[in-house]
Amino acid sequence: MTQAPSTPTYPLMQRRLCSNCGACTQPDHEAQVEDLCGFQTDVVTPLEPKLHGRPRDLSSDEAYFGVFQKMYASKLKNPKEDAQTNGTITTILERLLEQGKVDAVLVTRKNSNNTGTPILVRNKRELENCKGSRWDMVPLLDAVPEIQKQGIKRLAVVGVGCQISTLRALEAQLGLEKLYVIGLVCTDNMTAPNWKRFIQVTSRTPWSVRKLEFMPDFRVWFWHEDGSIEKVSYFEMRMDKLQDCFPDACLSCFDQMNALADLTVGYMAVPLAWQWLLVRNQRGQELFDLIAADLDHTEFVDSGDRIDAMKRLLKYLGKPPTVLPRLLARILDNRIQSSGPKGLEFARLVVENKQTRNWYFLKQRYPKKIAKIIPPHTQQILDRYNLK
Ligand SMILES: Cc1cc2nc3c(=O)[nH]c(=O)nc-3n(C[C@H](O)[C@H](O)[C@H](O)COP(=O)(O)OP(=O)(O)OC[C@H]3O[C@@H](n4cnc5c(N)ncnc54)[C@H](O)[C@@H]3O)c2cc1C
Repeated sequence: MTQAPSTPTYPLMQRRLCSNCGACTQPDHEAQVEDLCGFQTDVVTPLEPKLHGRPRDLSSDEAYFGVFQKMYASKLKNPKEDAQTNGTITTILERLLEQGKVDAVLVTRKNSNNTGTPILVRNKRELENCKGSRWDMVPLLDAVPEIQKQGIKRLAVVGVGCQISTLRALEAQLGLEKLYVIGLVCTDNMTAPNWKRFIQVTSRTPWSVRKLEFMPDFRVWFWHEDGSIEKVSYFEMRMDKLQDCFPDACLSCFDQMNALADLTVGYMAVPLAWQWLLVRNQRGQELFDLIAADLDHTEFVDSGDRIDAMKRLLKYLGKPPTVLPRLLARILDNRIQSSGPKGLEFARLVVENKQTRNWYFLKQRYPKKIAKIIPPHTQQILDRYNLK
């Protein structure tokens, strides 16, 4: 694979609704884009029953989180330095390689400016530089020709929903004997220049930020070089200076939960510093079993009223971004800390909020796509809030 430029330019994203997943860098895939790409057609709904043995149950939490057999609020007993949350994913990948269950794992290596380059890793040592989140739309599937060239037959892949749904649509063409898929929950991403702009606008010392996360306490956390953690309330964010930060692709995504992964990993439904693991099928269970003995578990929290919060949020749909006076922002932040949705209810709120926002975006900017890419689980949310 070639080294990515230090400032990526995303040519396909300028041509069409595209998340730079990398599949279209191969001409034969670009020709199949109508069938493979989640921004052209709803790839998830038809593939879910094939992968997980049944469609999602829309009368349960699967309407929000996708098909799952079990879910856990867990934490590694020995968290990993420099991992994004505590290193569950990297530990699973290490075990897969150590136990010879795969020939290679496809992950995203960290470049010096924290952009990402896809890389096929064959040993534990090389995984060191792949921990944590990249501030970039990474062309993960650029690596597909290399998988075939290197004769890899047993593979594990880590990616966000748009990368994974296209990978699944392509899977039959890859000639693999075994594919393990670990999906990241992803509610928004940005191009590298926009991540830089976001950090510059939001952090008080942007030059020293080494890690950041949108946390379930309604704050963005910035971890700084000196070990301090800066927390900025969502209500205090300068959205007026962040217009157009999110790419059209993220504003058209209905798969925040990475429903076609075998195992999905995130944090937004569990207490701070814990991880949320959703085992979707037997292969996901195999991945979970690799680290089961190394995990502590805690109870899920499920409190607050997302429907009330959604009704308030929907009042702002389509309105220009509002900058609240600091005092009001602090009052709202205090109120949400004490009585806002928590745990699973927070995660449901995030899914409903992003999917209604994205439906509205499509309606304004790409109305013809609505019939093609909105899945039944999103339609159910739109119906709940009477959005037409
Ligand atoms: C862009 C992005 C947005 C996210 N948003 C949310 C969210 O809203 N809610 C939530 O609950 N969780 C979200 N996550 C997942 C969360 O941040 C952690 O990645 C997850 O908890 C796993 O942590 P870990 O310590 O086990 O991962 P680690 O052991 O640190 O491993 C991280 C893995 O992520 C891969 N990776 C890093 N950056 C990228 C990228 N840009 N594209 C593709 N793969 C990448 C690496 O290859 C590595 O294998 C997001 C992740 C990303 C990358």
